[in-house]
Amino acid sequence: MTNRITEELSRLAFECHDNCVLCGYKFQEGDTSHLGYGTDDEPLYVCEECSKKLKETAVRFYFIPRAYTVPKKESKLWRYTDFAKYVSMLSTKGLYFARADCFQDSFEGAKGLKKNKSKWNDYYLHFFREAIKNPPDSYECTLSDEEVEKQAERLLGEFEFGGEIEKKSTFINCWHESEYESEAMWRLYSSFLENAIAVRTSYHSLYQALGCNPSIDIGRVNYINFQKRYASADHAFWYKRMSFEHEKEVRALFINRDCPDKGKIVPCDLSILIEEVFVSPSAPLWFTQLVNDVNEKYGVNKKVSPSELIQEPFF
Ligand SMILES: [Zn+2]
Repeated sequence: MTNRITEELSRLAFECHDNCVLCGYKFQEGDTSHLGYGTDDEPLYVCEECSKKLKETAVRFYFIPRAYTVPKKESKLWRYTDFAKYVSMLSTKGLYFARADCFQDSFEGAKGLKKNKSKWNDYYLHFFREAIKNPPDSYECTLSDEEVEKQAERLLGEFEFGGEIEKKSTFINCWHESEYESEAMWRLYSSFLENAIAVRTSYHSLYQALGCNPSIDIGRVNYINFQKRYASADHAFWYKRMSFEHEKEVRALFINRDCPDKGKIVPCDLSILIEEVFVSPSAPLWFTQLVNDVNEKYGVNKKVSPSELIQEPFF
């Protein structure tokens, strides 16, 4: 293995994550995926069988399915926001990713309910104990039961501490996935409804606007019943409580352990991101003109439409 991973190769592996690019084989958990280059130095992401065709193997991975599903390329995504945040997006030419511990939802990154924590602890203590007592071949565990117990508890402590650290190193930008504009979202995600704006994009435009960056995951949040189960141990930020299901959230997420700030602006090509802009159903007429003026000032040549909710019915 050469460990030579070009940007093109890591992007290919990211975009084709679930399948071998040569034969289409769908990877199963535990399979080995091979990243490397073919005879013409073209990047390849392949299965065990097709790995024979690699001229150079850069790296191999133990395949783990993603914790989230990826929306279809054309899936419509909406971001409901207020005017100030919209202008900030235009002026910074970037998307704001908030740090996970700054979200209102105190369950961001939670593994489960506190009342179920002792079961969780028992499970992982057992897991760590078994791992310590059964090291790989050619190693032998010489620790006493008491020492094994101490080590297992230490590992559990580190595991818990890791969860707290994750909250301070995970940055998230949220979208609502829907074919249509949502009345409820106008109310939920705009602090002042008269001056609210919705930006519509699509999954593919969001991915492209952020530079097709393999270190930013974009996917659907899973809504689960925390009364009955835990979130994933390693991917808790892809799980929320059922009571948030109406958000139909798609989030863009990255990890950065070196950023002490409460949020980070990620450069974004707004000409790709913004497909259409809608103004709130409660906005006065002059507000649409204002949004148009601001767009012009920042060189954003996109259609600004009134909310479709203000269209009149007939009876
Ligand atoms: Zn294959």
